[in-house]
Amino acid sequence: MTRTGGCRCGAVRYTLSAEPVATRLCWCRDCQYWALGNAAVNIMVPRAAVTVQGEPRRWESLADSGNHMCRSFCGQCGTQVFSEALENTRHMVIRVGTLDDATGIAPTVVIWTDSAPSWAYIDPALKAFPRQPG
Ligand SMILES: [Zn+2]
Ligand SMILES: [Zn+2]
Repeated sequence: MTRTGGCRCGAVRYTLSAEPVATRLCWCRDCQYWALGNAAVNIMVPRAAVTVQGEPRRWESLADSGNHMCRSFCGQCGTQVFSEALENTRHMVIRVGTLDDATGIAPTVVIWTDSAPSWAYIDPALKAFPRQPG
């Protein structure tokens, strides 16, 4: 099925034409910035299935995993939309909160639990990884 989404103000929009290959909660320290203290909810999708309208701003950094990350966000409203490891040429991440309709999408994996705060609830039903899965 095709899904659509975008930032809060609508300046950045995208179309996703494939099913996610994974839906993950991420407690990495970076995601805690952009999810405002909580875990981020991310879908991994094939890069080739994403079409972007608008001009997101991009910020590059080195992640704890060692990957070179590029985060894309709306320069007007600040919504985080995409996250990409430059080393991963096949897949990229979309922030689930930006989907117009996230029906049917639920996390099955939680990663970077080592970075989660002590109060975090790690659902035992999820497959958990202390850091980045290999
Ligand atoms: Zn926006
Ligand atoms: Zn993360």
